Amino acid sequence: MTTVIHHWLDGAPFDGQSGATADVTNPATGEVTGRVALASEADAAAVIASARAASLTWGATSVARRTQVVFAFRELLNARKDELARLITAEHGKVHSDALGEVARGQEVVELACGIPHLLKGGHSENASTGVDVHSKREPLGVVGIISPFNFPAMVPMWFFPIAIAVGNAVVLKPSEKDPSAALWIARLWKEAGLPDGVFNVLQGDKVAVDALLQSPDVAAISFVGSTPIAEYVYREASAHGKRVQALGGAKNHMVVLPDADLDLAADSAVNAGYGSAGERCMAISVLVAVEPIADDLVARIAERTRTLRTGDGREGDGPEADMGPLVTRAHRDRVAGFIESGERAGAKLVVDGRDVRPAGEADGFWLGPTLFDHVTPDMDVYREEIFGPVLAVVRVATYEEALALVNANEYGNGTAIFTNDGGAARRFEADVQVGMIGVNVPIPVPVAYYSFGGWKRSLFGDTHAHGTEGVHFFTRGKVVTSRWPDPAQRRVGGLELGFPRND
Ligand code: NAD
Repeated sequence: MTTVIHHWLDGAPFDGQSGATADVTNPATGEVTGRVALASEADAAAVIASARAASLTWGATSVARRTQVVFAFRELLNARKDELARLITAEHGKVHSDALGEVARGQEVVELACGIPHLLKGGHSENASTGVDVHSKREPLGVVGIISPFNFPAMVPMWFFPIAIAVGNAVVLKPSEKDPSAALWIARLWKEAGLPDGVFNVLQGDKVAVDALLQSPDVAAISFVGSTPIAEYVYREASAHGKRVQALGGAKNHMVVLPDADLDLAADSAVNAGYGSAGERCMAISVLVAVEPIADDLVARIAERTRTLRTGDGREGDGPEADMGPLVTRAHRDRVAGFIESGERAGAKLVVDGRDVRPAGEADGFWLGPTLFDHVTPDMDVYREEIFGPVLAVVRVATYEEALALVNANEYGNGTAIFTNDGGAARRFEADVQVGMIGVNVPIPVPVAYYSFGGWKRSLFGDTHAHGTEGVHFFTRGKVVTSRWPDPAQRRVGGLELGFPRND
């Protein structure tokens, strides 16, 4: 019997009225393990109304009390993160250690939110004008919607909700319908941590649920992460409905290797960042730009390492853990395999082919092993499209300038890395490259929680990146108060003066 994965409203499971569901599978076995509820407009309205009511009291709760709840959530999460990681592996497929890593990076944002009293402090200027003081403060927005992708069912929501809640908003989380259980686990944890009912609700579903959040007058802001076409749609639609929006989209991350780089470090990094989580990471390296004359040597080192990787069921078994798990769905697996066929047809050299990789006894899983292409050119689909699978494409160029021009001509600008031992070259790259997150001898430069995460160009629609101080600003609205208190010891203030207010 398959489990029904419901919504979460007012601190309890909510079945909704729609009756519509979608299958949730275990990617390692192909088995349907659950059916997720797909919200109707009425279901969405109920979930949003509950959050709206809860936001009024939560926003007026003291900073001290709110902080205590976030601390309690952090302690519970830290104690039970293994449970959450297992849930992620069962629906997403990534191996257990990778799922634990995802939770740990999300937890960093919870820890940042534990410091919210400091982050929320405003400024104060005494006697800004004679007898006049000025102070600034930041207030919560009300209800915020978070719409997340399948590839990080815990970490991506955690980029947003710890800060959104700590500053006094109520959250409606719409997780991916492919791995929806992590969101419910998190909702239960919040309840246990003492968060009032309705402050963290979960709305399961597809486009109907998303559109309800984008269009509801009771939702003040939207944080979206997913593919570029949907990010662009979400940005336009939510903006048209008067909301504040940050919509993070897709990526095609290039790793540039200069001839003076440590080639073993570069090869290790390319394999880790290209195939970790089966390439289903928005910060995965999908293009390696080898600046000649090192390409033959580098490709040989990468191929040698790639052939040692073990693809298998990410749930812990008796033996050693696999390096990477299956892809998330059969349809996605077949789409990625289609790109491998297209790369071959276009004339790229297939150095390692992952299409026949199938762990023993796991015939029905969505398997695709690590795949390496060499001699890829920018006109090929395997270069142009975001594949979002374990396919690494090597493009050979003659100079640094050619490598830089390639990265800057790409429509995406999420992450990039340069591998070199030349500090001056790295510094120049940092200044010249049109990308939001840059690694120097670091292949997946995901910023720590107190900096902000976000790309440039078609990798981000909106102005604000996730977490860090930008996150605090996104989830609050500023007010500036200018005040004058008559001093009983001084002469009366006031009098008629119709000119423009002056400072003196
Ligand atoms: P997706 O765009 O298919 O789905 C993201 C969310 O949008 C899901 O909650 C989904 O239910 C919803 N959605 C899907 N189709 C919709 C539609 N037509 N209308 C309204 N809502 C819709 O993305 P995905 O496949 O779940 O995730 C992978 C993508 O996310 C990749 O492109 C990856 O690069 C991107 N991603 C980006 C970042 C980043 O930080 N920039 C991080 C993680 C993932």
